[in-house]
Amino acid sequence: MTYPRTSPAAVLPAFGGPTEIRELPVPPLEDDALLVEVEAATLCGTDVHIADGDLAGPGFAQVPLVPGHEIVGRVVARGRDRRTDSLGRPLREGDRIAWAYAWCDRCYWCTVAKQPTLCANRMMYGWGPSDTAPYLTGGFSRYCYVRPRCRTVLVPESLPAPLAASATCALRTAIHAFEALGPLHSSDTVVIQGVGPVGLYAQACAVAAGAGQVLAFGAPAGRLDVASRWGATRAVDLSATSAEERLETVRAHTDGRGADVVVECAGVADAFTEAVDLVRRGGRIVVVGAADPRPSLVPATTFNLRQVSVVGTVSADISHYHRAFAFLERHRDRFDFPAVLGDPFPLDRVDAALDSVRTGGMKPVVLPSAA
Ligand SMILES: [Zn+2]
Ligand SMILES: [Zn+2]
Repeated sequence: MTYPRTSPAAVLPAFGGPTEIRELPVPPLEDDALLVEVEAATLCGTDVHIADGDLAGPGFAQVPLVPGHEIVGRVVARGRDRRTDSLGRPLREGDRIAWAYAWCDRCYWCTVAKQPTLCANRMMYGWGPSDTAPYLTGGFSRYCYVRPRCRTVLVPESLPAPLAASATCALRTAIHAFEALGPLHSSDTVVIQGVGPVGLYAQACAVAAGAGQVLAFGAPAGRLDVASRWGATRAVDLSATSAEERLETVRAHTDGRGADVVVECAGVADAFTEAVDLVRRGGRIVVVGAADPRPSLVPATTFNLRQVSVVGTVSADISHYHRAFAFLERHRDRFDFPAVLGDPFPLDRVDAALDSVRTGGMKPVVLPSAA
């Protein structure tokens, strides 16, 4: 096909306001870049925080911007040096891919710490700005520009595009968190705080990894039903129980010890405080969902006298994307993964999709090529 000159995109001109459809320029293709046509882009709470201006500032969200960071697309054009994906598999026009954020490979975090998700010069998708090249850096657009430093993976054709898009944020984040956490044992009791898409995917990871018991804490009832279908030993309604009652539930399942592992996917500061109460002496907490700037007050003796370990992870590198797709393929008969998805929306209804996240809907899907 001929290289397109412009692309319709949902642009957020100002924080807190509506998006509008604009025709953005398609930048000239750099030698190691790609242009993709977006098949599906899903939303999460981060998109709402970005749109509302909660994450504004240099190095963070800048308007105008094209929202959307959970993206699966098909290759429209390849730069001449972009011959394979990051696993060495040939990359052709028409192939379906996902890609990680662009990292610089020349900062302390990229090269020495080997923690590229903390890259000092990272360039993210869905964070803007869209008024400077390469313009098309959000998923809610017909075309998206894959920067030269973005690592890519082929996405299995067997996966529905919206489901694959959800793996590029919620599931790859959970996979990264479990990698940082380390092994799970068949005797472990794992508490998952939160039953949103990240929490549900984290639960699936724990169940699939063979944890002995998995207790899911969250709300509302519909999401708890999914947790039960996905193998939760108990699905506990956060809105109908007190913290004391949840602690009693965990103790009742663990001979009074507390949970071996607590996975925080809830987002609020109180969740971490509760995680410290729920975990056993010598247990592990992994912080995945925290999005609350308020401090969580916990005694420092938690970490020496009770020997509790805490790890946290943000985003994911390309290995986690690949493992996320493999996880979906391998376990699709065991978990009805599409249960994490919400309604589909065309490009001109991105605001309604954002509103559905604000009102507690499951992960909505934007289909930029839909009429
Ligand atoms: Zn996301
Ligand atoms: Zn870097």
